[in-house]
Amino acid sequence: MRLSGVLVCAALVAATVADAAAQELTIRPVKDGLYTIFGPGGNVGVRVTSEGVILVDDKFPQNYEEIQRLVARVSDLPVRYVINTHHHGDHAGSNPSFLAVAEVIAHRNARDNMIRGNQDGPPRLVFTDQTSVFLGGVEVQAHYMGTGHTNGDAVIYYPDLRTVQGGDLLHGTAPFIDYANGGSSAGWVQTMNNVLQLDFDTAIPGHGDIMTRDHVVAFRNQMEAVRAHMAGLIRGGLQRGQAAQRIVTSDLSWTTAENGLFMQRSIPGFYDEIAAEVR
Ligand SMILES: [Zn+2]
Repeated sequence: MRLSGVLVCAALVAATVADAAAQELTIRPVKDGLYTIFGPGGNVGVRVTSEGVILVDDKFPQNYEEIQRLVARVSDLPVRYVINTHHHGDHAGSNPSFLAVAEVIAHRNARDNMIRGNQDGPPRLVFTDQTSVFLGGVEVQAHYMGTGHTNGDAVIYYPDLRTVQGGDLLHGTAPFIDYANGGSSAGWVQTMNNVLQLDFDTAIPGHGDIMTRDHVVAFRNQMEAVRAHMAGLIRGGLQRGQAAQRIVTSDLSWTTAENGLFMQRSIPGFYDEIAAEVR
């Protein structure tokens, strides 16, 4: 009886864990033929075509099977291409598995960052300025528009759907500037201005809910405002060690406690970048 009880409990625990894992990721339509997989890790763009599926980003290594299962809900055809928006492991983590069945594409700097970081699954194909995947009468473009989150951010453009996918150049809460991999707040503003040259009304961020063009403009504006705020503090004598506390202002949501984790991770690199501009 005891053994039986233990087995039942173990089975229940296993079922609960499986349910929780199954509930972690969800796939939702964005536009005709374009879906996004939400959940832990970076958002995944799923572009369905008559000759196969083009993915943009592939979350963590452990998400591979679940991603494939969710893609199978919206297409009978295999994933043929994966484009990485950048090298971070929550966006390119399933590359090793996808490389066995598809082509993976990233910016050359993103691949270099993977190699330098001993990260599994560097892509076989890279681009420097712009590239496109043509599949089933559909074009998916990858643009390099400048530094920002890293030095290897790809801006994905679905021209027929007037939709962009920004990776972590667009973030639902607050951005992280990865200075160790070439990130730059000054570059980010210019890159966002370049993104806004594209004709789009919908944007898939790296994390969080789907954005409108107005959300993207507001994101660009807050990046400028946070930069100006930090510059003002430095002109007023702000010391490096005080930056994490003193940058907080209720006027700028990225600096507040609920989002602060992301902005705080970018300090002191952010302090150093702005201090060099102010001097
Ligand atoms: Zn990232």
